[in-house]
Amino acid sequence: MRYVSTRGATPPMPFQDAVLTGLAPDGGLLVPQTLPDFRGRLAAWRDLSFVELAVAVLQAFADDMPRETLERIAAEAYATFDHPEVTPLVEVGPLHVLELFHGPTLAFKDIALQLLGRLFEHVTAARGERLNVLCATSGDTGSAAIAGVKGRANMGIFVLYPDGRTSPLQALQMTTVADANVHCLAIDGSFDDCQRIVKAIFNDLDFKARHCLGAANSVNWARVLAQAVYYIHAALRFDAPVSFSVPTGNFGNILAGYLARRMGAPIDKLVLGTNANDILARFFHTGEYRLGTVQRTISPSMDIQVASNFERFVHYHLGGDAVALRTFMSTFADCGAAKLDGGAPADEGILAVAIDEAETKATMANLHSRHGYIADPHSAVGIAAAHRFPACRPVVCLAAAHPAKFPDTVDAAVGRAAARHPALDALVGKPQRKTRLAPDVAAVKDFIAAHAG
Ligand SMILES: *Cc1c(COP(=O)(O)O)cnc(C)c1O
Repeated sequence: MRYVSTRGATPPMPFQDAVLTGLAPDGGLLVPQTLPDFRGRLAAWRDLSFVELAVAVLQAFADDMPRETLERIAAEAYATFDHPEVTPLVEVGPLHVLELFHGPTLAFKDIALQLLGRLFEHVTAARGERLNVLCATSGDTGSAAIAGVKGRANMGIFVLYPDGRTSPLQALQMTTVADANVHCLAIDGSFDDCQRIVKAIFNDLDFKARHCLGAANSVNWARVLAQAVYYIHAALRFDAPVSFSVPTGNFGNILAGYLARRMGAPIDKLVLGTNANDILARFFHTGEYRLGTVQRTISPSMDIQVASNFERFVHYHLGGDAVALRTFMSTFADCGAAKLDGGAPADEGILAVAIDEAETKATMANLHSRHGYIADPHSAVGIAAAHRFPACRPVVCLAAAHPAKFPDTVDAAVGRAAARHPALDALVGKPQRKTRLAPDVAAVKDFIAAHAG
C-alpha cells in the first residue's frame, strides 16, 4: 500500500514513511492510493477482540511492517486502557454510547496516540533516527500525544496550546508531565493560531528535516486509521447497518467513520454535531466552506473553524481530483470561503447540525436525570445531534471524553459534583512546566531549534 497526497504532487510512499511525514511536502494530506474493501472479511471479524481487529485493519495499510510487530504494538497500546473491552458500548435509554475515554488521558485521542507513539518509536529505532513530534492542541490531543511519546527513546515532543482556553485540568495533564523530552508551549492566541503556526513550520521543509519534525495531529494518517477500528468494531455488534453520531471539530473522528463506511463497514448515516463553531454544519447544508470567527464554548476541544482533516473528505468527495481540490483549498486560503460545484454534498450520508450551549447543558441534565448517565459536554453535543435525527436508529453516540475532564461545566449542568476521576485529582498541586510564547511562527521556531536535541 502506497500513500499519496490529496494535492497530487508528492511521490507515492510506503506506510512507515507516511507515518513519519505527517503533512505531505506539497501541503496536502496523505491518503492511501486505494482503500481496501473489507466486506468479504466482516463475517470473520465479528468475533475479534478490539486488539485483534486493530491488527487486522492495520495490516491492510501497514504492509511494510511485520505482523508480530503490529500485534505487539497494538497489544501494548490498548493494555494502557482501564476497560477490558477498550471501547465499551453502553446502553443509555434508546441510545448506544460508545465510550472512547478509557485510555490514560481520558479522551478518545488515546486510542490513536497510544498506537502512534509506539509506531514512531519502532520506525525511528529501525532507522536509527530521531523524531520530534510537533502538534497543536485544543486540549485533548496534547496530553494524549505526550502520554504516547513521553520517555520514549530518541523522541521529543513540542505541544502548542491556546493559553487559558483549554480547561484547567487539560492544561495540567500536559504541564505536570516531568519527562525532559516534553515541551509545552502556551501560546497567547486561539487554537486556530496554534494550528496555523504548526502548519507553517511543517511547510518549511528545510526546518522540518533539520529538526526531524513529525506530526501527531489528525493530519497523520495513522491516527485516522486507528480510529476507524472502533467504528468497525462497534458496527459489527449490530445485525443491521447502524448510524453513528459524532461530535466534531477538526473532522478527524468523523472522517474515520466515513472511511470505515467506504471500506464496507455496515454504517448507515453519520450524524455530525458541532458547537457554535459551525463551519462544518453550515458546509453540509450549503456546500460552502466559509470561515467564521472562533467562539469560546463549553466544549473547547471543538472550538475550531479550520478543520484540518476536512481536506481528506473533499478529496474523496471529488473522486481524487487533485486539480479541483487544489482550486477549492486555495480559494479557501485566499478568500476565507470556497464552494463545492453542485452545492451541499447530499449524497454522502452525513447529516449535520450545530448545537448551542443551552441544548448541550440540557442534554447533560436530561441524560443524568432520566438515565443516571454523565456525559462530558463534547459527547453531549453528539448526543443532542442524534436526538435531532430520530429516524437514524439504532444510533451509536461517540463519547469523546470522560466528564471529569470538564468538571465545572458538567457539575453545573447536572446539579451536583458528579465529575471526578482519581487520575485527574492526582494532578492538582503537582509542579508545572510550560513556556509562554507569542502567536508567532519565528518565536516557536527559535524555541524548537534550541530544544530539539
Ligand atoms: C478532539 C476532540 C473532539 C473533536 O474531534 P475531531 O477529531 O477534531 O473532530 C471532540 N471532543 C473531544 C473531547 C475531543 O478531545
